[in-house]
Amino acid sequence: MIWDLSQLVESTDPSSVQKKLESMVAEAEKIRNKYHGKIESLDAKALLELLELKDAYALKFEGTVMYGRLMYSANSTDDIAKQLNDAARRAYMRVGQALAFVDIELAKLLAANPALVTDPRLAEYKHYLERILKRAPHMLSETEERLIIMKDKNGINAWQMLQGDWLSTRTFDIEIEDKKKTLPYGEIIGLYQSPKRDLRKRANQIVYEGLGKDEVLWASALRSVCEDHVQMCKLRKYPSPMTQSWIDNDVDQQTIDSLMKTIEKNVKLYQRYLKLKAKLMGLDKLANYDVVAPLPTAPSMEYAWREARKEIVKAYKGFDEQMGDWVDEMYEKKHIDGEVRKGKRSGAWCASWIAGKTAYILQSFNKKMGDVYTLAHELGHAVHAYLGSRAQKLSNLEIGSCVAETGSIFGELLLTEQLLAKATTKEEKQAILATVLDEFGMAVFQVSARVFFEQNMYDTIEKGGFLDGETVANLWVASRDKIYGDSVDWLKVMKWEWTMKPHYYMANYRFYNYPYVYAQLFVFALYQLYKEEGKSFAPKLKRILSAGSSKSPRELAAELGFDITEEAFWQKGMKQAKEFTDMLERTL
Ligand SMILES: [Zn+2]
Repeated sequence: MIWDLSQLVESTDPSSVQKKLESMVAEAEKIRNKYHGKIESLDAKALLELLELKDAYALKFEGTVMYGRLMYSANSTDDIAKQLNDAARRAYMRVGQALAFVDIELAKLLAANPALVTDPRLAEYKHYLERILKRAPHMLSETEERLIIMKDKNGINAWQMLQGDWLSTRTFDIEIEDKKKTLPYGEIIGLYQSPKRDLRKRANQIVYEGLGKDEVLWASALRSVCEDHVQMCKLRKYPSPMTQSWIDNDVDQQTIDSLMKTIEKNVKLYQRYLKLKAKLMGLDKLANYDVVAPLPTAPSMEYAWREARKEIVKAYKGFDEQMGDWVDEMYEKKHIDGEVRKGKRSGAWCASWIAGKTAYILQSFNKKMGDVYTLAHELGHAVHAYLGSRAQKLSNLEIGSCVAETGSIFGELLLTEQLLAKATTKEEKQAILATVLDEFGMAVFQVSARVFFEQNMYDTIEKGGFLDGETVANLWVASRDKIYGDSVDWLKVMKWEWTMKPHYYMANYRFYNYPYVYAQLFVFALYQLYKEEGKSFAPKLKRILSAGSSKSPRELAAELGFDITEEAFWQKGMKQAKEFTDMLERTL
């Protein structure tokens, strides 16, 4: 299936799309002329007008901006797509520049009049305003903010680019079936998933041995990014290196502390799964290159596009009729691009189209079980968009990473339930359960090792330590071992695993990791609740998805009667993981 993007625009004539983009920039200028320098003196009524205008403006041009972008991601070699994508990007940047003052002035207005946040006239924007107010004390003057953007360009942004450029230009020599090959990083890592164990081992050994040789470079980049962050936290008056990420993710320290404590208390559960997986693979113990490898016994099933559609729609309908109808509508309206072709961006994603109260999905469907899972995942995002766009103002749909995966991961579990019920052989069951538990293990436990690692780096800096390559490697190994214990044998060179993770080097993106842990465990807890409550749980999940970002994750959980600052809630997610692990053990 190829998607139909024509619904996004009034006319698909490229010149009319271009014109609309130009009028988008012109309208932004109008808003600027009307409000620049004046937001700080608005009262509640006038502020409501501004917020509604801002939302209406963005919705008006949403489809046009998406049109060029989506067209290009599906067909990067098409000239018109290139042109329109470029025009959309330029227009978007100009709009960003024209309207950058809004957030700064809004923050000042709210800092001076915090009572506006609770003004009943602004009730629909309450949490949106609360979040701006939270950021306000950490914003600097316009001159300082501009200086920071300037120094970052050749500072942390340059370190980030160096890390990315260096990594992508490395090549690695490896022998595959008696042929010597020289592969770039992006290609050799594909071998980590090879069914051949020896090849997986050699690929890991060669990559990390190679990366370790440049330890001075990686450590310099990482150290600069971390030390810059420490300085910026001081300048912006963040009490800890993690505070900014809590504000960005709309969570609090108490919640994340209790989440991470739950992880520490349950490492044995993950280790138990890894030991089971070793048995399934006929090994005494897993090596690091086996952890997410496919099971050798996994049957190679293929799913036709139609069959996948039937399975996924049925899985969603079994949970909630309306959700199932929306999933089906995504197919019916041709909002999914599943065709495999050249020039199409790899990976899969779902883009919400709020004005259209729907979404678009891009994927390259290769008929594998993993592809069916990916579709179920992306369609969960689509359902999230269907619900959110029907219930919320656009400003309330800036959904943070902790909550954004709720619909998608839940959808995967619905599919799991259905595939398990249908599975006829134990090998099939094992393959399904291993897929689910591999993903859970990576998102919850492996990613937690990275949280501990990042925390350890900042502790080291605080104590006056110096982050050279060996020190960083030791911190990584200690964090990793806290999770894996003795359940996995690691190649010695795996101490350089931190060198390639782009997230650690990304400018202004510290502690990107725990929202993944949060999201996965949150949904497992919800799924456990569904198992306990049955049908009556569906409206509850829909309420959470409908809320968008109008409530904090903590408030959302409270509506279900849970306190996410308590470990008991997170333990519910672990209980679900334990049930899957028990199921897997019973197949042995
Ligand atoms: Zn997702």
